[in-house]
Amino acid sequence: PDAAAAIEVADLVKVYKTTRAVDGVSFRVPRGSITGLLGGNGAGKTTTISMIMGLVLPTSGRVRVLGCDMPEQRAEVLGRINFESPYVDMPSRLTVRQNLSVFGRLYDVPDLRDRIAELASDLDLTEFLDRASGKLSAGQKTRVALAKALINRPELLLLDEPTASLDPDTADWIRGHLETYRKRYDASILLASHNMLEVERLCDRVVIMKRGRIEDDDSPAAIMARYNRATLEEVFL
Ligand code: ATP
Repeated sequence: PDAAAAIEVADLVKVYKTTRAVDGVSFRVPRGSITGLLGGNGAGKTTTISMIMGLVLPTSGRVRVLGCDMPEQRAEVLGRINFESPYVDMPSRLTVRQNLSVFGRLYDVPDLRDRIAELASDLDLTEFLDRASGKLSAGQKTRVALAKALINRPELLLLDEPTASLDPDTADWIRGHLETYRKRYDASILLASHNMLEVERLCDRVVIMKRGRIEDDDSPAAIMARYNRATLEEVFL
């Protein structure tokens, strides 16, 4: 086991009927890093994140999270990790406070009222706490989703395209918040993205996926030097 890794995956494979969604993937996320998982539609990012979370069982291969084997030792890490995914909707009739309370209780968050107030203040949600979640704007919904993902102060955060479909200002604001969170708690973040500029700004490390495989794995500077915009776009096809 690699004590300096927040995530280690080795020879990971997921086959859906005839689709090899993930086809022999190995990479690591160093503790304390923001590592980008970059790739186009269908590259296998969501499936990879789902296997790391233990939500989807791999066809074969190995996943270790914070030193624990997944899914066998899932119970030992669940409280220390969290994730945000566009595939998980929040109940729209619940207020923001109710949504955060439900998640906070799931994670057994101590002093939950105070934690919700703190998150609301950090994420500029205080005035929306008693509003129905379904009535919020896209940017506000994203901030609530992020509050949910941070409710248990996770050591490891997995984010599936957290800024997709946001306006540029809101997207930048979210990115700034992720940097602040990482610094404040020395957290590790795996960030799936299809935005090279986002990855360049935030990440210490970039893993590029293409058609279920690892295409490259390096520092953002090395990746930018190796690919020009045109070839990066080819990578995404
Ligand atoms: P996107 O940015 O579109 O979410 P992605 O990189 O996250 O892309 P995945 O969602 O992991 O990619 O999908 C990888 C491949 O696996 C795609 O071809 C997709 O159609 C297929 N796939 C994903 N989930 C399933 C499923 N539950 N059943 C069958 N095929 C699936």
